[in-house]
Formats: sequence, structure tokens, C-alpha cells
Amino acid sequence: MPFADIILPLSVGRTFTYSVTDAEAQLLEPGMRVAVPFGKSKFYTGLVKRVHDQAPELYEAKPVGQILDDRPLVTPVQLKHWQWIADYYMCSLGDVYRGAMPSAFLLESETVIRLNPDADLGELTDDQYLLYEALTQQSHLRISEAMSVTGRKNVIPVVRAMIDAGLVTLEEEINQAYKPKMVRYVRLAHGFESDEGLAGLLELLKNADKQREAVLHYFQLKTRHKSIPVKLLCEESGVAPAVVKALIQKEIFEEYQIRHDRVDFDDTATRTFDLSPAQQAALKDIASGLEKKDVALLFGVTASGKTEVYVRMIESYLAAGKQVLYLLPEIALTTQLVGRLTQHFGNQITVFHSKYTNNERVEAWRNVLEDSPKSRLIIGARSALFLPFANLGLVIVDEEHEPMFKQVDPAPRYHARDAAIVLAAMHKAKTLLGSATPAVETWYNVCQEKYALASLTQRFGQVQMPEIVVVDLKDKYFKKQMTGHFSDVMIEAIARTLEKKEQVILFQNRRGFSPVLECMTCGHVPQCKHCDVSLTYHKTRDQLRCHYCGFVMARPQRCHSCASPELTTKGFGTEQVQLELQTLFPEARVGRMDQDTTRGKHGFETILDQFRHHQTDLLVGTQMLVKGLDFENVTLAGILNADNMLHYPDFRALERSYQMMAQLAGRSGRAAKKGSVIIQTYNPYHNVIRQVVANDYQGMAAEQLAERRNYHYPPFVRMIKLTLRHRDFDKLREASAWMAGVMRQQLSIPVFGPEEPPVSRIRGEFIRNIIIKIPAGYSQPEIKKTIHKIQDSFESVAAFRPVRISINVDV
Ligand code: ADP
Ligand code: ZN
Ligand code: ZN
Repeated sequence: MPFADIILPLSVGRTFTYSVTDAEAQLLEPGMRVAVPFGKSKFYTGLVKRVHDQAPELYEAKPVGQILDDRPLVTPVQLKHWQWIADYYMCSLGDVYRGAMPSAFLLESETVIRLNPDADLGELTDDQYLLYEALTQQSHLRISEAMSVTGRKNVIPVVRAMIDAGLVTLEEEINQAYKPKMVRYVRLAHGFESDEGLAGLLELLKNADKQREAVLHYFQLKTRHKSIPVKLLCEESGVAPAVVKALIQKEIFEEYQIRHDRVDFDDTATRTFDLSPAQQAALKDIASGLEKKDVALLFGVTASGKTEVYVRMIESYLAAGKQVLYLLPEIALTTQLVGRLTQHFGNQITVFHSKYTNNERVEAWRNVLEDSPKSRLIIGARSALFLPFANLGLVIVDEEHEPMFKQVDPAPRYHARDAAIVLAAMHKAKTLLGSATPAVETWYNVCQEKYALASLTQRFGQVQMPEIVVVDLKDKYFKKQMTGHFSDVMIEAIARTLEKKEQVILFQNRRGFSPVLECMTCGHVPQCKHCDVSLTYHKTRDQLRCHYCGFVMARPQRCHSCASPELTTKGFGTEQVQLELQTLFPEARVGRMDQDTTRGKHGFETILDQFRHHQTDLLVGTQMLVKGLDFENVTLAGILNADNMLHYPDFRALERSYQMMAQLAGRSGRAAKKGSVIIQTYNPYHNVIRQVVANDYQGMAAEQLAERRNYHYPPFVRMIKLTLRHRDFDKLREASAWMAGVMRQQLSIPVFGPEEPPVSRIRGEFIRNIIIKIPAGYSQPEIKKTIHKIQDSFESVAAFRPVRISINVDV
């Protein structure tokens, strides 16, 4: 009798064997989905891993429910890659499967079905009618309930058909419904698109000056742009939107809309640049490097023109008929770059965005699998790595140093750069990493000659690197040259920049008004009820907020501890910087970009659009400010306090500080005007600050590598972090001590902890970490196997079982 090993979307470290009929065995291939019963009343959408003849020894195999695909949805290389991720990052294949597939592919018994209120009923089958009726009685149905309503063990095909017909939606879809931003365009109505058409039009409009003006500008714009946004037309011609509207009403223009992130998708390549000699040399170095090695690093200072080099690389792989994957740390913040690429590659692009609807992600999946002409170049954040590439030739990892590439929660906790290199190797493809500030690990691989190197040491087009000024805060406070958190140097520089009608960005790595509210009498600082952190004061709402769990309370009038009314704020965040700026520069328009202001679906886009169109003069923000902004008019970038970054308790703190400051500097003076950067700090002679000023990446990397070699940190060891969590402090302490003890006994390598992390309780759960360092020369698979075994024995102790463990490899 044939059997199939099935991957279920569960965090269980093995596959499950089900029985299949001979006919089914004929049909089934690895990578096809099947619905399978699980436990008493659950079912899952599983994935076939293998079909074979060996009955499971320990249990009786249940029969597979239903085959859901007529051909594999997941390729053999993909399965192999997922297995690698599961093994390397110590999670289950089910974790990878669940994280990889668009959720529409993964109906589960917990999935909630809702009626689509706008649905057009049409003809329903009996089963569909039963579900429809049930859904008019209650707001939603779980799939398990749908099973009992219809009396069918396998209800997915019914639900699936109803989804396809638009009758019902799934819960996830409702939560994730991403309202795309639509951009309005105009084109000439049929018949006017010619020289005679133009002449006739001008005649027609001879008494409507404004409308004539708009039409003339339309023709001018048409020589440079394929599609003309209404906004651009108004800006260029200086006419009001009402004028364009009038032309639409007269049926001279037609209006149409394109989604913002698809803008120019139908445009053919209109913009081609000649590469500068430096870019040509870099391109040659990459090409010859990739002949010898699988991975190359394009190390190019900010604004050196890396993107154009990527474009040429992509062109050559597409010309050879290959697919290219372009990974970015974050899509929402890089619409500008996506726009640039789409201008070159038109409708050969698929953007894979986690915010897209299920349907769109499903469509992208199928296009990539079929190697469709619409999916030659796939742009996406880390999860695009899981797509079913049919013909991958090149992976580009842009801003490869970005911490965003590492998934923290949930499992799989993979690093997209590293997993991309493995994926490329499995496809016999090449990987190109790019950064102005490479990860120290990557630099080490270059030094070891594992990766090829190509460099761009100058900004494109004689643009100079910005001048960096360091301001000593201690000295400035002593000399009373500070106003709020701004030194006189910073204030003067901002004033000069604003006078020239240029723009400023200011970085402060904390949001809110100030990190703590402190009692002046007894020193008490209000803490979160659920977490081991102090609450952050937000002035606009007059609230205290926890940045870990979202807990909110009104600002207390009196100290909770001694009832004194004298409370003062300490430290400062973006909100306070914004308010101070407003006072210092009452005329200036100040924008703010942080987690609090970008919460809505289009939070980033609105703020960035305003800044791009110079509707704001200054932009204050946290980390997200640093990511990939390319605004010509920004000529000053400031850091209000570099110190808390430098002193963050993490072995990567100095590397990250360097990257942050250098990237922020990279946003200033990108076009013809020379930019400047001001860094305020209490440590003006700190090595990292000196290295930023000198633009000395290699000096920074060499120093950090020396430190890491001395103190045994990556890349000289591999680190694995086990995090244990539980509500009961004593139980957690006992459990983590047991775990660390057994690890020390069984692993002959350094085991640290259990230790309390800086924030040792979140959402009511206490936390302990155990860190394992694997020195070079030890077998990682062996050690990982032992850790899994220890975890199994841990879980067999009844008292420990409720303690949650998560494992993070390469933290
Ligand atoms: P990076 O990605 O290295 O920060 P970009 O690729 O954004 O740099 O290039 C910086 C600026 O130089 C951009 O405005 C880009 O359009 C321009 N640029 C780069 N290469 C060329 C080229 N070969 N011809 C014309 N402009 C270029
Ligand atoms: Zn007090
Ligand atoms: Zn909290």
C-alpha cells in the first residue's frame, strides 16, 4: 500500500505519514498540496514531501483527505531549500512551510470564513447553500464548523469554490486587506494623439487659455514620460486640478488610475544611462568575480550609483533568459527604488509585497512558478526568497547589512541574505550583495576571498561626500550654547539650509516625547505593569506608553510612590525634537517619521511624499529615516545624540552605529549641492565617530573584527540563542538552570547563562537567555542535533513543559 509523507504547517519537527490509494499514488508528486485530517476534528493543508511504500511503525496511517493540486505548487529545489532552512535555523519544516506559502494556500481548521456582503449570489450548490445560510445566521464560521454544517469531512473544495466566486472571504484577507494607493493619470482621448489632433485641439480651445496651457504641457511631458499623472501635469503647467477636470468633462482627456506600486509597469524602458568609467569598472569586476566565485560584494559609498550597476547586471541575466530576484530590506520605504527599477524593466517585474492581498500573492506565486514573462525580475523583502523560482540566475541583496533581513519572530528565524546565498547555490545561480556599509561578516568573507569584491569609491557625477562636523555636547552645555537639545552649531546650520530653501533630516533613535517621567522627590519612574521597562511619555496625548506591549495610561498627576506632584521628564524622543524645532523655527514646516506617525497603511508614503514635494522642510525620525531615501534637496543631516546608540548592550552596537551614521550622512547632498552632517555627542573622540568622519569603513571593520576575534563573537564563532519564557518567575529560573546545566554537560563548547536580558519581562512573561558559541572547526549539525535532543528531554519533564523555548541561530 502506498504512503505519503506530508509536511503540516506545525512547529513539529517531523513529517506525518498518511495512506493513499494506488490511483492517488499515481497522481501525487512532491510539492502538491493535500487536505489531511489531524487529531480528532482538525484538518490541515499539507504538502507532499515523498511518496513511498513503508508503513509507519508507531501509528496507523490515516488516509489522505483530498488532493488539492493537479501539479506541484512547490518545486524540488524549494523543498530542498526549506529543509536547509529548517536544519540550519533549527525549526521545523512545517514552520518554513507555514511562513513561505501565501496564507490563501493554507486553509486550516482555525481559518475563519466570512460572507462577502457585496457578493452576487448566482447559483449555489447544495453544500454552498448550507454554508451561505449558516453565514447569514452567524458572523463567521470556522472551517471545522463548516465541516459539521455540511456534514462533509472535506469541505475545502466547497469553501475554495466560494472564495473563487467571491461569495466568502477568509479572515486573514480581511485583516490584511491592503488598500493600494491609486495614482490618477490622464491621456488624450482617442483621435487627438497626433499632430493634426493637436492643431485641432488648440483651435477648439482657443478661448480657454488655461485648458490650452494644460494641453500644450501634456504634449511636452509626453516627449519625456510615457504616462502622465494629473499631479505632474498640474505642477508643470501651473494650472489648477479643476482645469484638468474640465478637460476630462469635455472628453478631451480621459482619466485612468494605476496603483502606486505598479506605476510605470506598462512603461517600456525609456531611461537609459551611460555608466561612468567607475561604474563600468565595477561591473567588469563583478562579472569576472562571479566567474570564479558564487558571491560578489558591490561595496560602493552612498550615492555612488550602485543601482545603475544592478540594472546592468539584471539586464544581462534577463537577456540570457534567467529570472532575477532582487531583495530589499523593506518595500514600503523604498517605493522610490522600486519605481526606478520598474522604469527600466516595465512589465517584466513582479513585486512581492507582504501587504498585497492573498490573491495578488497567489498570482505572483503562480507567475514565478510558470516562469511567466511577467515575472522575470522579482522584487521583494525577505519573504520573496520562498517563491517557487523556476529558472533563477541571479540574486541581488541590496543594503545587505540591514538587520531587517533577519527574521526575529516567528520561526523560521532566518537571515535572508545568508539563505539567499544558499538558494542561489542550489539553483547554480550567483549572488550579488551591495552596500555602502557592508555587514562585518560579509567584509570578513571578502577578506578571506570567499566573496569577490567590486568597489565604487566616489559619489556619482563629481558629487562630493558630505562634510561631517562633530559637536561636543559636554562642552556646549558647559558653555551654555545649547537651546533645548540643539547646539548653536546645529541651529545655525539648520537656519542656513532653510534660507537656501533646502531640506534637513534629523535623526533621534527614540520615539515619543521622553523615555521616562521621573518623580523629583523620590526618584520613582512609572513602569509597565506587564513588562520590565519604564513607560515612555507621549506629550500630544499626555500619555505614558509601553513600547514593548502597547500598554497605555494617562499621565499621572502625582507620583504613584510618594504622591508628590513634582514630576519631571528625562531624556528625549522624536516628538520632543519636533516640538523644539517648531519653537526654534516657527516658520518651518516640520514632519516626523516614526512608528507613531506611520501606523496607517500609507503612513510612510504620505510623510515621504510631503517631504519629496517640499511640503515639509525638516523631517525628524528614527531608524526608518536612514533607509534608502534619495531626495536631491536634502543638504543637511543631523544626529542629536549619538551616544545611546554607541552604548547599546550588543556586540554589534558599534558596527550598527557606524552603519547608521554613515547611511544617514549618505542621505545628505546626493545631487549637485554639497551636503553636510552634524553629529552631537558626549564622545567626540570615540573611535566609531572618528571612523564615520573619515569615511573609514575598512578601519571600522578591521577594528570590530579584531574585537570579535578576541572576545569570541561572529564571524569567528556561530552563536545560538535559546530564549525561555514563562509567567512564573521561579519555574522559569529552575527550568532555565536545568537546561543550561545539561547543555554544559553534553556540549563541549562554551554555554553562557541563563542570563536576564536587558528587558527581562514582556507581556507578563519572564525571560531568560542561554547563549551557545560554536567555535570554528566544530560540527554544527552535530551540536544542533544534541541541542534538539536536550530540548526533547526538557519537554518530557512535566513541570518544564509549559515553559516556551525559542531558538535563534546567528543572532
Ligand atoms: P547608491 O545606490 O549607490 O546610493 P544611486 O544608484 O542612487 O546610488 O545613484 C545616485 C544618483 O546618481 C542617482 O540620482 C542616480 O540617478 C544617479 N546616477 C547613478 N548612475 C548614473 C549614470 N550612469 N548616469 C546618470 N545618473 C546616474
Ligand atoms: Zn515620588
Ligand atoms: Zn509593557
